[in-house]
Amino acid sequence: MSDIRVRFAPSPTGHIHVGNVRTALFNYLFARNKNGVFVLRIEDTDLERSTGESEKLIYDDLRWLGLNWDEGEGIGGGYGPYTQTARADTYRKAAEQLLANGDAYYCFCSEDELEAAREAALKSGNPPLYNGKCHNLPLSDALKRIENGEKPSLRFKALRQDVIVNDIIHGSITFPTDSFGDFIIVRPNGVPIYNFAVVVDDALMNITHVIRGDDHLSNTPKQALIFQALGYAPPVFAHIPMILGPDRSKLSKRHGNTSVEQFRSDGYLPEALVNYLALLSWSSPDEEEIFSVKELTERFSLDRVSKSAAVFDFDKLKWMNGLYIRKRDISEITALAVPYLAKAGYIDPDRADFDMARLTSIIASLRDSLNIISDITRAAEVYFNPPQTLDEESRDILTLPTTKVVLEGFQAELNNAASEYLTPDEYKAAMKSIQKSTGTKGKPLYMAVRVGVTRRTKGPELDQFIPLMPVGILKERLEKVLKEA
Ligand code: GLU
Repeated sequence: MSDIRVRFAPSPTGHIHVGNVRTALFNYLFARNKNGVFVLRIEDTDLERSTGESEKLIYDDLRWLGLNWDEGEGIGGGYGPYTQTARADTYRKAAEQLLANGDAYYCFCSEDELEAAREAALKSGNPPLYNGKCHNLPLSDALKRIENGEKPSLRFKALRQDVIVNDIIHGSITFPTDSFGDFIIVRPNGVPIYNFAVVVDDALMNITHVIRGDDHLSNTPKQALIFQALGYAPPVFAHIPMILGPDRSKLSKRHGNTSVEQFRSDGYLPEALVNYLALLSWSSPDEEEIFSVKELTERFSLDRVSKSAAVFDFDKLKWMNGLYIRKRDISEITALAVPYLAKAGYIDPDRADFDMARLTSIIASLRDSLNIISDITRAAEVYFNPPQTLDEESRDILTLPTTKVVLEGFQAELNNAASEYLTPDEYKAAMKSIQKSTGTKGKPLYMAVRVGVTRRTKGPELDQFIPLMPVGILKERLEKVLKEA
């Protein structure tokens, strides 16, 4: 293990969406590439929005993606606890240190007062920063007021100086003096504000690199000042760009699915999602695009993360998922397909006579047409629920002068079948014999049979499909289509 330590610090307010997951992924890849430690910290100081249930969802989503953490909930580590609400004492101590050193002070201004001051500042053309009313309040006075039951917040004394933040991705950024005034770090109810808790945690957990979304860039100068006041060198910052929707506005639900859980239930594979997300604002030096996690780990570096936002291309993700569906073991793809087929009522995996081997072959015959596993419901209609009406192309085949004799020839072959299913060899022999007896070959032969048993001109290969269909059902289908010919 190296000394490199990074963290993913989600707030547990629901399933994680792709933006956050990409942040987790970059942290994970960076840590693995550097042989460092990947910490999972739960930032649940927003008591109204954080829930234990959401925390569990985050663990599930990360585990499903294979983004396993080295320290954190469920794993432990030498820097715990890893949940902010369990770290109240730590924040209190840090707050006391800032107070004692004169880097923070109690502020008794009420919400109304602050609002009025903000409005007045704006009216007179000044930035709406804190007016500093309590900045010079002697600590002894403040303590007396607290004793008398008043509940102040704690404010950090923002030095009146430019703050320079060095960021691996954005370079050196100067935040001018008036970017912010003295800011609150602990609420009157004792709960620390994000900018404060995050610094205490990053400092005490020895985090060396903070890799997070660039929506936090404006928080960074405040955090840099707190690091300084607490006596710690700041970590290296790397603010990764946003993910945009196809219309180039910030990716959100209205662009489509953005929750990991939803991708999972739609039948995306974790390795496809990981591969796709890795390419959002990062590119490999060799310009390849298809990578296993191991290959990503070997190639990942922060200096190949671009400053510009990436557009989330839902179609490309789908296409990539299709590639991974074709790479996976067929038995795994079948297992993933089972719930969709059961839901559609096509199979009942709980029945004693459920034939897993047959289903596996069925999935194998359809796999090339799948981009996501849930596509299986449509694709499998040909086996379990063929369309009632014939489309135009199928009708055209039906009206060929040779189709009727071909279908009758196939009926006769099926009537001679020795068992419930034709073997592939029996199917081939049957086709040969029909060819001979009808003098038909090529498209008029095969398309006729295809339309006869599938009611469509496209679908799985016939030599795969027919041996997987009970002869009785094939006969029923032929009878039906012959009535329509
Ligand atoms: N809890 C913060 C968030 O989810 C973490 C930000 C950070 O990484 O500092 O946005």
